[in-house]
Amino acid sequence: MTTIQNHLPTAELQALDAAHHMHPFTHGDALAKKGARVITSAKGVFLKDSDGVEILDGMSGLWCVNLGYGRSELAEVAARQMRELPYYNTFFQTTTVPALSLAARIAELAPEGLDHVFFSSSGSEANDTNIRLVRHYWHAMGKPSKKIIISRKNGYHGSTMGGASLGGMSAMHAQGGLPIPDITHIDQPHWWAEGGDTSPEEFGLARARQLEEKIAELGEDNVAAFIAEPIQGAGGVIIPPETYWPEIQRICDAHDILLIADEVICGFGRTGEWFGSQAMNIRPDIMTFAKGVTSGYQPVGGSIVHKDVAAVVNAAGDFNHGYTYSGHPVACAVALENVRLLDEEGVLQHVRDIAAPALAEKFATLGEHPMVADPRTFGMLGGLQLSPDKDARAKFEAPVGTIGLRVRERCFANGVIMRHVGDRMIVCPPLVITPEEIDTMVERALKSIDEAYEGAKADGLF
Ligand code: PMP
Repeated sequence: MTTIQNHLPTAELQALDAAHHMHPFTHGDALAKKGARVITSAKGVFLKDSDGVEILDGMSGLWCVNLGYGRSELAEVAARQMRELPYYNTFFQTTTVPALSLAARIAELAPEGLDHVFFSSSGSEANDTNIRLVRHYWHAMGKPSKKIIISRKNGYHGSTMGGASLGGMSAMHAQGGLPIPDITHIDQPHWWAEGGDTSPEEFGLARARQLEEKIAELGEDNVAAFIAEPIQGAGGVIIPPETYWPEIQRICDAHDILLIADEVICGFGRTGEWFGSQAMNIRPDIMTFAKGVTSGYQPVGGSIVHKDVAAVVNAAGDFNHGYTYSGHPVACAVALENVRLLDEEGVLQHVRDIAAPALAEKFATLGEHPMVADPRTFGMLGGLQLSPDKDARAKFEAPVGTIGLRVRERCFANGVIMRHVGDRMIVCPPLVITPEEIDTMVERALKSIDEAYEGAKADGLF
């Protein structure tokens, strides 16, 4: 077998996949029995599979294809850079023009003061960098005991040992002995599921104040940083109450705790701003980025570091950390071109003026379905709760995720990709999506929710 097996029929591709390919976050045997859907091409917001069926990608791949599929400008930049300089590292007192140019461009776009970039190839790696960076920073500041990082249950920060430890996904912690030491978690600001009788505003404050309580319990001298996504993505598109982030900011400021905003999903236009921190009025010391920086066309991630933090790290001798592909020239060249297109084509303006309002309006109509509670959007992120009795904010008797999975499968059958997180359904379409395509996406979602609803009733699930 010497080339890509494009000529094979679907069943043979699936058989090869089942025989040799281990999939992330997948029950291998179950998938092998069913056969993976083989995606072969894509254009705009539509994917095509090996049987020629078109599917509207309501998730931008894995939250990353911000500019949509099929942009030949990015392919051309990659080819040009590969011919000129396919690879060189940035370790031993060398740099490359794409890497330094991308770092400078990101510094222009990021909030005031965040003007240094450490590159990786993914969000997970960037969060691993953050763990080492903040501990090294405090050591250099003469406070080596400040090591503990506080994060949140049901947050997501990646799948490496460090990233998954920062994340608060219990199913991930259950495998491989996680979390690693000196990482601890507080509760998430998920009002629908956990707010009880409090108002969202009271709940947001209470959840933020858990950070202050945790700092008091651990001792301020032992805490290095707090990390959180401006809006939780993989946890189910959980938009925090408005009271949450101002209180978190106050607490980090008051207790000399570095604030890390994980912008892997929110960054590069998802909220209508370059970064979610701008939309949420957060002043982080470090921002994690990945995904949208290249619209997924190449793997790039990294940490955007405030100049005050960078100055300390830069003065403290060698920082003994880095990846072979930190600042990869081809990947950085593609990122620069992607950012240029996002900027010059007015994609953020499109999000603010057209796409986000259209998504908000259309997504809200899903709330008319008896099984849909609390459909909410922020920029180009949307989440809703499936519930058997939404007024009571009730959960299903069936194991968590049973109904969500059924809805996702109906979505797949009906030509739209929506993701389920337990019994939440979420969307994150390409930023360039048109109002007509949003209509199509939401209509297909509604049909799928209704089919799953009828099916679940027929099967006696509620
Ligand atoms: N942080 C956040 C907020 C994410 O959503 C993700 C990926 N979904 C990551 C980190 C990890 O990024 P990667 O998969 O590129 O390692």
